[in-house]
Amino acid sequence: MSGALKVPFLDLVTPHAELKHELVSVFETALDTAAFNGGKAVEEFEKEFASFCQAEYCVGVGSGTDALRFTLLAAGIRPGEIVITVPNTFIATVEAIHQAGAFPVFVDVDERTSNMSPEALAAILENNCHFDSSAGRTIHRATGRPVAAIIPVHLYGQMADMNAIQDLADRYHLVVIEDACQAHGGEYFSTRDGQWHRAGSAGKAAAFSFYPGKNLGACGEGGAVTTNDPGIARKIRMLRDHGQAQKYYHEIEGYNGRLDAIQAGFLRLKLQHLEAWNEQRRQCASRYRKLLGSLPGIALPCEPSWAKSVYHLYVVQVENRLGLQQYLNEEGIGTGIHYPVPLHLQEACRSLGYRPGDFPVAEKKAAEILSLPMFPGLTDRQQVRVAEAVQSFAMTQKGILAAASD
Ligand SMILES: *Cc1c(COP(=O)(O)O)cnc(C)c1O
Repeated sequence: MSGALKVPFLDLVTPHAELKHELVSVFETALDTAAFNGGKAVEEFEKEFASFCQAEYCVGVGSGTDALRFTLLAAGIRPGEIVITVPNTFIATVEAIHQAGAFPVFVDVDERTSNMSPEALAAILENNCHFDSSAGRTIHRATGRPVAAIIPVHLYGQMADMNAIQDLADRYHLVVIEDACQAHGGEYFSTRDGQWHRAGSAGKAAAFSFYPGKNLGACGEGGAVTTNDPGIARKIRMLRDHGQAQKYYHEIEGYNGRLDAIQAGFLRLKLQHLEAWNEQRRQCASRYRKLLGSLPGIALPCEPSWAKSVYHLYVVQVENRLGLQQYLNEEGIGTGIHYPVPLHLQEACRSLGYRPGDFPVAEKKAAEILSLPMFPGLTDRQQVRVAEAVQSFAMTQKGILAAASD
């Protein structure tokens, strides 16, 4: 095994090398026509991405963070209101809530899926809130603030338990906004209509990021909102463009948060490959399961029967995470940690007043998770190499004890 094959955590070079000529010609067309803002590329991409997500509308914006912030504003979340989300997400989820003037309240995640726990959500709504029937609103008892929305995060490419979450949202008159920034093409099975639905069509609106490392990535920055609500789509079109629907007639105060036309062109091209890339990721995941499934002490991702993950990340859980990460690093295998510090314990969120122990599942995961190499071009040989390294590390331990099992 020495002098062995190196395995990067992520390979962003190869897919762009393969598409280089087409990407360059997109760029040349933009230069030749000076089409840098709006126009055909953006409109066509919006149509195509809406259709990919099985949503009526798509509005391209500057980033996933813009998408979340604009969606909260457009969905009518008002300053001082509460938005419920999870602590084990990228910080942008909470930045957007705060920057829209709202207050994040966290609920813990499910031990198996790492996504929002419907039980924890139900508990906070039942025990820490009351329903004010004259106002038709759910009020958070400790702060007196109305609860307005829930943001489930489809973490690592797998959709949250939308059936249960939507049921609770309906009961408590809350809006559901999907953070789908990691889940382009992820699906869940709706018990309401007995059909599979894609991320981006499951809530009131959904936010996507096209940061280069996402399943669909720009060659720079980008994001989008999908929704079936024409009012929300219209409002976001204004918010991203200084509050104007007609040039220089500003209905509201907005932002500079547009998707640029060159990125839209790149995204159109790459969108044609997304289905196949996601399928390759799913095949890699099932290969990892075959290679690592019988190894004691390691918990592999759990995909419930009602979800189809697009494996933005392949995250395992082991007790000796640091040891495993160091060992793999010495073996030339790249890994990542998504994320090492849950948001309620981040310095930037100190004012929210949470303490260690508040979300035990999320905290345990933060200490034990490790993201293994996962990308569409990952080869059989590379995966065998990763699995052998994990196995030989396990041999030096007395088994790498799993924290969770499925
Ligand atoms: C990437 C990401 C975002 C933010 O997207 P940007 O395009 O980087 O602004 C938000 N939420 C989650 C869960 C993400 O993974």
